[in-house]
Amino acid sequence: MHMDEFAQIFAQFQDHLAPRLDVYEQAIYLYVLRHTVIEGKREEIIGFKSARKKLAFGIGKAGTPPSEHIIYEKLRTLETKGCIKIVGSERSGTRLQIVLPSEIPDLLPVASATIKFNLEELDFFALPENRKLILERENWHCFYCLAKLDENNHVIEHVVSRPEGDNSYRNIVGACRRCNNRKGSSSAEDFLRSLYRVGILSGDEFPLRLSLLNRLLAGELRPILP
Ligand SMILES: [Zn+2]
Repeated sequence: MHMDEFAQIFAQFQDHLAPRLDVYEQAIYLYVLRHTVIEGKREEIIGFKSARKKLAFGIGKAGTPPSEHIIYEKLRTLETKGCIKIVGSERSGTRLQIVLPSEIPDLLPVASATIKFNLEELDFFALPENRKLILERENWHCFYCLAKLDENNHVIEHVVSRPEGDNSYRNIVGACRRCNNRKGSSSAEDFLRSLYRVGILSGDEFPLRLSLLNRLLAGELRPILP
């Protein structure tokens, strides 16, 4: 198993599964994970008579491991929650199968890849509710000159004008009316430079606006979807 694959499993465990488990269930699940998936298998016989001493301290009596009785009770609740499968009892212990967080029904939210795909498809120019998301991304400041925007003074504008530029969040910004009027057909970079020359952008602000422009075009400035 690759490290990033395990990192993903662990993040899914911590973010989505752990909140549904009590501390014993979490400790047992991690122990089973350690002895299955990390060893490159899905099933293992675990002898809880000794394993329980390596899991965690008990809650009832401080400093002592959880009792075997508690462990078997928690194995059953873990199975009910769909996190493991108890295959059977053997001489050396209980044969268990791990169920990964991604395999537990309704545990993970809709894959972020799907949301990203949709985001790329969204029209941020034509749809009023999406125009609002652009203004929120801009924190209600002009993308070019940083002037404060409000309900009356704002335009949603194309960085690269149509037909070359599209209506994606990579090409749509919120701007003040003055910048929208002055920019005309000049490139965003040239326009920012002209704002710097006339002193509307300071020597500190100008390079920051340029790098933000590059990040916008690279698709790094994603509006936050509701
Ligand atoms: Zn402006």
